[in-house]
Amino acid sequence: MVTYCKHTGERLMGPMEFSALTSDPENAPKIYRHSRPKFHAMLLDQLAEVGLSVEYGKEAVDFFEGVETGRAGVVVRDGSRYDADLVVAADGVRTRSWNLVAGKEVPAVSSGDAIFRAAYPVELALIDPVVMERFKLLEDGRSVIELWDFGTAQESWGNRVHPEEVLKYTATIDGWSDIGDCVIKTIPSSSLVDWKVMWRDPQPQWTSPGGRVCQLGDAAHTFLPSSGNGATQAIEDAVSLAACISMGRIREGVPNATRVHNLLRFERVSCLQAFGVVNRKKANSGGQTDDKPKDKLVRVGRWILEHDPELYALENYAGATAHLAHGTPFQNTNTPKGLVYMPWTIQGLLEAQEKGEATILDGDWD
Ligand SMILES: Cc1cc2nc3c(=O)[nH]c(=O)nc-3n(C[C@H](O)[C@H](O)[C@H](O)COP(=O)(O)OP(=O)(O)OC[C@H]3O[C@@H](n4cnc5c(N)ncnc54)[C@H](O)[C@@H]3O)c2cc1C
Repeated sequence: MVTYCKHTGERLMGPMEFSALTSDPENAPKIYRHSRPKFHAMLLDQLAEVGLSVEYGKEAVDFFEGVETGRAGVVVRDGSRYDADLVVAADGVRTRSWNLVAGKEVPAVSSGDAIFRAAYPVELALIDPVVMERFKLLEDGRSVIELWDFGTAQESWGNRVHPEEVLKYTATIDGWSDIGDCVIKTIPSSSLVDWKVMWRDPQPQWTSPGGRVCQLGDAAHTFLPSSGNGATQAIEDAVSLAACISMGRIREGVPNATRVHNLLRFERVSCLQAFGVVNRKKANSGGQTDDKPKDKLVRVGRWILEHDPELYALENYAGATAHLAHGTPFQNTNTPKGLVYMPWTIQGLLEAQEKGEATILDGDWD
């Protein structure tokens, strides 16, 4: 369950089902929250199941590809080289694969925002009786997430931060609630990270020249947290790439599979990146949520919720292959209904919105 609160701690909406955050709550499919550690453990179990081992502490410093040998690889910090038929560059927002894929680093620009993030055992928070009372379970045993909004953050901070520093910041917010400070005080000092929110314009090219290195997740597309979709799209990428590779094993091979995956995914992901830019603007506009809290919610449309990236890849593989090989017309259908994709930049998008001009966000996004 989720509630929407003012920065004073006053509850404006909820507790309500997560489906209330969608554009069509009545008909939305059931939305579940997942434990991230458990999800991670599940992925590791699956790797073990298929006989793949994970080596930790290996920092990728470069990616390479031999177009003629049909192999690609990665160089790690200690100088060792690993090679394979396919290398997936999933090393996050500062991927080392840019030089190979784009021929240059993709510049990041500060959005001017920063977010404090902490993950720590809930038992530590519940030691404080005030926090315990505020976050007590509902009668049916379910817990409640609180979304707080004050929309005035314009700072950029360093990396790790002591909770005292956050308290100094909250002391400057007019009307900030004591309950917020009570929670902050329970955070272990080593657990609090200061996350500077950076953004990058969409990059359509995710594959190396020979198609054997493929960027995935944040390495291919950075998301603003306000899109609420970066991790979801990284997982969709993984499912789509796996489906394309399964098709590529039968015909046309790995390079075609990664290029098809790139074609099937880019426009969808780019739309969701744009969604995040606009949601951020919405969330930061003014900071007064008491009159119309619903206007501030991220609305998740059916085209986002109900997409099956595996089925989509299998159904569209042949059409996308023909498009890449012969220029046969191909139209993605995993974007908002009726959308005609137009390339955009963050700056251009914000300026066009300001002037009331047409943008990629026009159309039926529900
Ligand atoms: C404040 C905040 C809130 C967010 N909220 C949401 C949300 O509600 N919903 C959502 O879907 N998404 C959310 N996101 C986005 C989400 O966290 C990311 O999109 C997601 O983690 C991307 O996954 P990834 O595997 O591509 O990259 P990452 O999770 O960044 O994983 C990359 C991995 O590569 C490793 N690595 C980095 N460099 C190297 C190297 N050179 N060599 C070897 N390994 C390397 C890193 O240690 C890391 O383990 C949020 C992000 C932020 C910052």
